[in-house]
Amino acid sequence: MEPNNKATLFLVATPIGNLNEVSGRCLEVLRNVSVIACEDTRNSQKLLSHFDIHTRTITYHNFNERQSSKGILSLLEKGEDVALISDAGYPLISDPGYLLVNEVIDAGYKIVTVSGPNAALNALVASGLPTNHYLFYGFLNAKQSQAKKELESLKGFPYTLIFYEAPHRIEKTLKLMYEVLGDRKACLARELTKLHEEYHRGTLKELCGLHDLKGEMVVIVEGDTSEKEVSMEDLLKEMDLLIEEGQRAKDAAKTVSEKYEVSKNQLYQAYLKEGNK
Ligand code: SAM
Repeated sequence: MEPNNKATLFLVATPIGNLNEVSGRCLEVLRNVSVIACEDTRNSQKLLSHFDIHTRTITYHNFNERQSSKGILSLLEKGEDVALISDAGYPLISDPGYLLVNEVIDAGYKIVTVSGPNAALNALVASGLPTNHYLFYGFLNAKQSQAKKELESLKGFPYTLIFYEAPHRIEKTLKLMYEVLGDRKACLARELTKLHEEYHRGTLKELCGLHDLKGEMVVIVEGDTSEKEVSMEDLLKEMDLLIEEGQRAKDAAKTVSEKYEVSKNQLYQAYLKEGNK
């Protein structure tokens, strides 16, 4: 469905601690919309009062998503702009909003994002771990047995992993990460943008030595860096490419075997066997 340009849902990122990180556009949007849908109105009131914003607030949280989405859609229908905010950072990022966004897309209203702070990216860029590719995982399941399965599924992932965790679970989670992922490089970023912001960089084993961690935290873990075994099928494919380029089979076997440090003889024999099928 085409957007009808009647009304807009603004997805507004708000500070993750330091209120000075609020942007001019964030304040402008929060002042000018008809309604602000908050994860927790009491919590957001601190931000709104600090900036002298008196826009009407309603709640939109995990437990009233369906009902509240309907209410928000009827506001949009009346031509009223709505802003969605969470307690901190981006709405929808380990926070409510996914259902609403989909309903608003289906109904054809405009959606605009207002950029701002996000704990995962703050932690990632300062972690010292690779930033070119990464996976934001968010919270692991609160049940250890489920969390273990989730970590096992991430074990072979070659890129940096980003997790959110609550302080009362952090010690157990770090131990589980060490147990499942092994002793990888990692960084625990705590209380970002706040007075006691700190980074613990080291390995998972070293981070397991930290105790009494309080406040909000993000854990960044190095991806799987172990060398992957190359299958015979892949080696033969690479040989075929070289042969197509004009190399003799024996020379191609030599080139590929040297590159992957495998037996030239075995590779050549496999090639002959493949050709004789
Ligand atoms: N929507 C938020 C965002 O965009 O980052 C995340 C909300 S999620 C419910 C809360 C989790 O984010 C915390 O448990 C913590 O893992 C992380 N977090 C939020 N603020 C943080 C901060 N100032 N320092 C470190 N971690 C933070």
